[in-house]
Amino acid sequence: MYSYYDQNTILYLNGQYLKATEASTDLYGQSLHYGYAVFEGIRAYKTAKGEVKIFKAKEHFDRFKRSCELIHIPYPFNNDELIEACYEVLRRNNMEEAYIRPLAFCPPNMTLKAASETEVLICAWEWGAYLGEKLLRVATSSYQRPNPKAFKIESKSAGLYVNSILASQEAKEKGYDEALLLDMNGYVAEGPGANVFFEKDGKIFTPPPGNILPGITRATVIELCKELNIPIEEKLFTIEELRTADSVFYCGTAAEVVGWDSLDGQGFAKPWADSLGKYLQKAYKARVLEQEFTEKYQPKSAAVV
Ligand code: PMP
Repeated sequence: MYSYYDQNTILYLNGQYLKATEASTDLYGQSLHYGYAVFEGIRAYKTAKGEVKIFKAKEHFDRFKRSCELIHIPYPFNNDELIEACYEVLRRNNMEEAYIRPLAFCPPNMTLKAASETEVLICAWEWGAYLGEKLLRVATSSYQRPNPKAFKIESKSAGLYVNSILASQEAKEKGYDEALLLDMNGYVAEGPGANVFFEKDGKIFTPPPGNILPGITRATVIELCKELNIPIEEKLFTIEELRTADSVFYCGTAAEVVGWDSLDGQGFAKPWADSLGKYLQKAYKARVLEQEFTEKYQPKSAAVV
């Protein structure tokens, strides 16, 4: 079992810095009973200049606020103060590279009324590559992503993650590393905790916003494609089209950029080492570490399938 804290860990709770072992919450909370809460997942990196920097902190806290508003959780917080609290949590825990988890949750209320008050927690832990360093063996899930007409799917709400847990668990039970979920129309949507991209004939594709969580890493990958002159298109595509990809990758704050080995046991045309995904993985690493990235993409001739 991974330990997220020890006797010395400090967290931020409603304006105070407390020991994780001494902080407490109400077991009658609406969030605990109904999954009515919002969270973020953010990473801090030690940059090339040796500074500890939270990557895209503003974007994450903007989404934190929007996620709360979408599901009517009051947001009486100031994002600059919350960002400062993140840095303070890192300092108090002597952390340089860490995963930061803000959580907005609601006090006791056993009715199904929208919350009238919100509490906020910020904790952090050291977390390596969330999906590992190896290429992923991915399985198409029997679970769909929730229908946007049944939920505010662009809100990073805790309750939504039961869908992610079910999909991930199913894939692992079948011996795969991770799941891929389709949307309610049968198009490829995303992973349980990451967005999907594929490469075909020198171009990169990813599903458009609408039936996915529009990831901040996804936005960074799109920015990098534009900067590096890699053609990028947002479009709906089927699992059959994905099977013909030259290479595929997942991306997310926790996962960063991680290549796929196979989908339902079938590999892709290009070795990952030669793919645009691998090149973007290096560009992403350079971006979060604030390093200059001057490498040019060297396309190899397409492998024979
Ligand atoms: N989709 C889902 C369902 C996720 O949980 C995540 C992780 N937050 C992502 C995509 C990627 O989002 P981000 O890049 O903002 O971490």
